[in-house]
Amino acid sequence: MSASDDSGLPSGAMARGEVYRSLLDQFRAAKIPSADLDARLLMAAATQVDEVALIADPHKLVEPKFLDVLQGYVRRRLSGEPVSRILGRREFWGLSFSLTEATLDPRPDSETLVEAVLAHVTERDAPLQILDLGTGTGCLLLALLSELPQARGLGVDCASDAVKAATRNADQLGLADRVVFRIGNWGEGVDGPFDLVVSNPPYIPSGDIPDLSQEVRTHDPMAALDGGDDGLTAYREIALETRRLLTPEGVAFWELGIGQSEDVSTIASDAGLKAFGLHPDLAGIPRVLAVKRLV
Ligand code: GLN
Repeated sequence: MSASDDSGLPSGAMARGEVYRSLLDQFRAAKIPSADLDARLLMAAATQVDEVALIADPHKLVEPKFLDVLQGYVRRRLSGEPVSRILGRREFWGLSFSLTEATLDPRPDSETLVEAVLAHVTERDAPLQILDLGTGTGCLLLALLSELPQARGLGVDCASDAVKAATRNADQLGLADRVVFRIGNWGEGVDGPFDLVVSNPPYIPSGDIPDLSQEVRTHDPMAALDGGDDGLTAYREIALETRRLLTPEGVAFWELGIGQSEDVSTIASDAGLKAFGLHPDLAGIPRVLAVKRLV
């Protein structure tokens, strides 16, 4: 085997299996928790071969030009950049979403919200109107539209780059004819009513931001994380807009930070809403609050 460069990957032609093991060793040594998945995702992207084919044919050689690309990815991963940021995309609800610096990296936890909405909707073919406040990549709204074929959506975000990313994602997913994304401050200037309002607002208390993992702190946009002194600033605004924009029978689903369900339920009732359901994520953490109008 030829000499290594500073990314730790030997240069020159190598078999897929050999490349994969080298990545795995480096990622494990760096204590990257998802070493195996990350190695596969980066290899598949760099070599332009899907993950299944990579595993099915481990003896095939990886072309040096692809190894060069992979070495760049590996260096970035070892310096703490998440795979989704390196590749500029992330899977959510089985769909592929482009990211930008202005968008939160979609989390598996947020799939709890999509599940909660779908469990609530009894008629999947209903022509529902859905509003997404703080849409980011558009992942919540677009995942819902992919499951509700007659639904239409409006996604709002204060960051123009997020609106661009969400619009591009709608195009790539073939959902552009049923959704509009626009720049705005929560529900400001939006006219309802909507059958469903969804939101994954910033909810980390400002004082807890320094304790977030380096990957989150450095690579997710602060505007999508920082929920103010008590972490609840955005909910106060969202509650008022939800009350104004929901149909009488409508339901809102808001993602929560850890331990926020009681406080957010109180914010909801102060705004003339009623919290009536709490959905745990896969770790058992109450993650999504279901809310409706009091009257
Ligand atoms: N779930 C994200 C985290 O734990 C925070 C996202 C948010 O504030 N909405 O880092």
